[in-house]
Amino acid sequence: MKIGFIGIGQMGRHMSRHILEAGYNLTVHDLKKEAAAPLLKKGAVWGNNPAAVAESCQVVFTSLPTPQNVEEVVYGKNGLKKGWKKGDIYVDTSTNSPSLIRKIAGDAKNKGVAVLDAPVSGGTKGAEAGTLAIMVGGDKAALKKIHEVLLTMGQKVFPVGDVGCGNAAKLVNNLISLASNSISATGFALGVKAGIDPRILWDIISVSTGNNWSMRQYPNTTFKGNFEPGFRVGLAYKDIGLALDLGREYGMPLPVGEAVKKELYDTIKAGYEDKGVDAVILPLEAASGVEVRVP
Ligand code: NAD
Repeated sequence: MKIGFIGIGQMGRHMSRHILEAGYNLTVHDLKKEAAAPLLKKGAVWGNNPAAVAESCQVVFTSLPTPQNVEEVVYGKNGLKKGWKKGDIYVDTSTNSPSLIRKIAGDAKNKGVAVLDAPVSGGTKGAEAGTLAIMVGGDKAALKKIHEVLLTMGQKVFPVGDVGCGNAAKLVNNLISLASNSISATGFALGVKAGIDPRILWDIISVSTGNNWSMRQYPNTTFKGNFEPGFRVGLAYKDIGLALDLGREYGMPLPVGEAVKKELYDTIKAGYEDKGVDAVILPLEAASGVEVRVP
């Protein structure tokens, strides 16, 4: 089976490497050719554009930042759509808009191409280790054909339902995790302002009801003043926007989501768009005159 992978970024470079190391014939493409250099050294082949990748492969994966990037890669001048052949499978692992992936699936069906949305969770660490959770929406027969390939990148593959449902599940997860991230930052800034040693606060919350994944990362991130990505603030802002869009689609107000969106917006305005998502604490620290650091 010849496999293509487009989008060799923080996630894609690890995910595609796992496919290659499992012995599949891999063709890669990114806007920046240098991003693919380590894969090309290991035996991957360069595809000049998405259409060329689709022409030479039966299965193509994408891992792209925004729905606009996915739209460009599928429908652009040399987009995937130009290279699709009957029987191909397209798997988008980006965190994407459910309505966009449904539209793509409809257009692809006319060409005999199956589309799966397969967003992932587990962060760059999970991508590197090949332990991602992968939530898949779309045709079960197509999923069966690529199941082994998904297992090179992740330990858990969840069939969620029709195409678009993978992203709906992912957006619900990110709504919850980004809310935890924001409230953890707020709580720790408040605690330090109130005179508590952040390490002691962390020890308490780790065994209390406020425990959550975001704050468990603090010893490696916030406490050290290390805000390198990881998961960028800009992508988190995109995801919370997509979750709010999903709420609107189903007529559900999401006030906590709106508050998280504002906090991420303030973090971007303060200049931290390309930092890791823990950086939401930086504007709070500036406003409160404290730093949540452990020497
Ligand atoms: P990234 O910005 O690091 O990488 C994206 C790559 O796509 C870049 O190399 C970029 O050059 C390439 N690209 C953009 N537009 C392109 C185009 N038109 N044609 C070809 N290549 C193009 O992003 P990432 O952190 O790897 O995230 C990828 C996706 O995975 C996003 O949808 C994100 O929300 C999701 N995600 C990220 C994480 C994380 O922790 N970083 C975790 C889970 C899910």
